[in-house]
Amino acid sequence: MARELPYDLIRQLPKTDLHVHLDGSLRLDTVMELARDQGVTLPADDRDALFHRIYAGDVCESLDDYLKAFEITLSVLQTEESLERAAFELAEDNWREGVRYFELRYAPILHTQRGLRPADVVEAVLRGLRRAKRQYGIRYGLLVCGIRTMSAESSLRVAELAVAFKNHGVVGFDLAGSEVGNPAKEHRAAFQLILDNNINCTAHAGEAFGPESIHQAIHKCGAHRIGHGTRLREDGDLLNYVNDHRIPLEVCVSSNIQTKAAQSIETHPVDFYVDYGLRVTINTDNRLVTHTTVTKELWLLHTHLGWDLDTLKVVIVSGFKSAFLPQREKADLLAAITRELDEFRAPEDAPALVTRSTGREPAPTGHEGESPRLSSRAEADSAPGPRRS
Ligand SMILES: [Zn+2]
Repeated sequence: MARELPYDLIRQLPKTDLHVHLDGSLRLDTVMELARDQGVTLPADDRDALFHRIYAGDVCESLDDYLKAFEITLSVLQTEESLERAAFELAEDNWREGVRYFELRYAPILHTQRGLRPADVVEAVLRGLRRAKRQYGIRYGLLVCGIRTMSAESSLRVAELAVAFKNHGVVGFDLAGSEVGNPAKEHRAAFQLILDNNINCTAHAGEAFGPESIHQAIHKCGAHRIGHGTRLREDGDLLNYVNDHRIPLEVCVSSNIQTKAAQSIETHPVDFYVDYGLRVTINTDNRLVTHTTVTKELWLLHTHLGWDLDTLKVVIVSGFKSAFLPQREKADLLAAITRELDEFRAPEDAPALVTRSTGREPAPTGHEGESPRLSSRAEADSAPGPRRS
C-alpha cells in the first residue's frame, strides 16, 4: 500500500530540471523591481494583478496564448545586469528545492531589443550561472533556443552561438515557439550545424502538434531529446522507436495542462509513458508562468497518480541520465545521486495515499516558494520534516 509522502521529503530529494525557460521563470518581485529600475511600464502595477497577467492558468486558450506572458518578462530582460540576475536567482531557487543539475534554456535573440549583442546575452547569463555554482555548488548547462516563428537564418545565428560557446557553458541547442504551422524542418540548417559540431540538441515537439512533429524533430533534425512529447502516444510505432533508442522525453505536466496539450494530470500520458518504460524526465518548463517547481511537479504526480517513492526515484534518475553532460562526468554524478537517493525511505507511519482526482489545482496566488495547497493531513505530515533512514 502506497503511503502519502511529506511534501518536504520530495523537496529534499536530489533532482534535475532539464527543461526550464529563463524568461518564464523569474521571480515575480524581480520582474517588478527590474521594471521600476529600468523605467519599463508593466501591464499591471499591483503584484497580484501582474501575477494573473503572467500566470496563464485560468485564461490560456492555447500555446499561442500562453506565449503572450513572455512579452511581459522579456520587457525587463534586455540588459546584461537583468539577465545575470535572473539566471543567478533561478539557479538559487532550484538549489533551494533540491535541484542539483539543471539545464536552463532561452532564446538569446529575444534579448537584443535594446541593442545587446547575442554573444553578450549568452555571457551575461553564464556569469549568473557561474556565480550560483560558486556560491551553492549547483551544476548547470545552458541551452540556446531558435524560435519556430522566426526565420531559418535567425536559428542558424543561434546555432553559431552554440558552436562558439561549446565547452564554455552552452551544452545544447533547442527549437522553441509555436509548433502549429512552423515545422522544425524549416530550421534544419541550424540543426545540421549543431550536429556537424557534435553538439547536443532537443526540440519542443508533440506539444501543440501531433506525433509527426516528433518524427520530424528526431529524423529530420537529429534531436537527442524531445521537449514535451505529449502526443507521442498517438503513434505506437514512433513511441517504440523512442523507447528502443532511449530518447528522453522532457515532460512538463502542469505546463501541458495550462496550454491545453493535456486536459488533466489523470489523462496526461506521463503515467503510461513511465509504465511502458520510456525514459521520462520531469520538468517545470516555466516556474513563474506555470507557477510550479520540480518538487511541485513530482508531488502532483505522487498525489494524483499515486506514484510511490520508488517511481519518483526512477524519473529522477532518468533526469540525471538524460543530462547533456559528458558520459564520465554523468556516471560519477549518477553514482553519487543513486547512493543519496537510497537513503530516502517513505515514512512507515504515514497515512495511506489517497489520490486526488480533481484534475485542477486551486488557483495559485503568485507567492514564490509556497507549496501547493495541501490537505490538512499532508500539512501535518510535512510539519516535522522528512524521516531519512
Ligand atoms: Zn518549453
